[in-house]
Amino acid sequence: MPPVVTGPRRLVLLARPGAGKSTQAERLAARLGVVHLATGDVLRREVASATPLGRAVAEALEHGELAPDELVMSAIVPDLEEALTRGGGFVLDGFPRDLPQARALAGLSARGLEPQLALEIDVSVAECRRRLLARAPLEGRNDDNAETIDHRLASYEAEMAPVIDFYREEGILRVVDGERAPDEVTKLLFGELGLD
Ligand code: AMP
Repeated sequence: MPPVVTGPRRLVLLARPGAGKSTQAERLAARLGVVHLATGDVLRREVASATPLGRAVAEALEHGELAPDELVMSAIVPDLEEALTRGGGFVLDGFPRDLPQARALAGLSARGLEPQLALEIDVSVAECRRRLLARAPLEGRNDDNAETIDHRLASYEAEMAPVIDFYREEGILRVVDGERAPDEVTKLLFGELGLD
């Protein structure tokens, strides 16, 4: 039997592109025994099954633009509810991506879905840029040239700085140094949750 984990079980993970968010989200979810919910995956699943919602978000996904908030919400809320029933919580990866989404998520408190903790994996813009550039040829992402990478990082800054401020003001933001080795970052994140 895995050890019983108390403490926050509804988490939001925030990090610039290239900071290693998905890897850490997987590890956190596994350790907590909760569901790792990656919004990109949820939306791609809708597109693949050609649901009305999938058809509505397909264009945004194709162009790498954010899908409309109401559609993303309607895609993700059932998954959040299922995660709560199944695993008693979630690690959200890729949501919220802007302040309206953060506010909408906080507004789900009547259903017990509001996040208890927002963990930010802090990696500088320069380091993310370096990592993304190094990774692009390996992943065969020819669309990932310096220009698109800079654009992604700038969009992140514009959309996510208000989200980070929002969680700071709510008193639920914790920041860890993401420029360490991946295992050390995991330890720092576990530490924030009182886990070893
Ligand atoms: P990702 O897998 O996180 O890179 O997301 C892939 C694509 O899904 C993004 O380029 C957006 O088009 C869409 N997407 C993911 N998360 C969100 C979100 N929270 N809000 C709007 N669109 C999103």
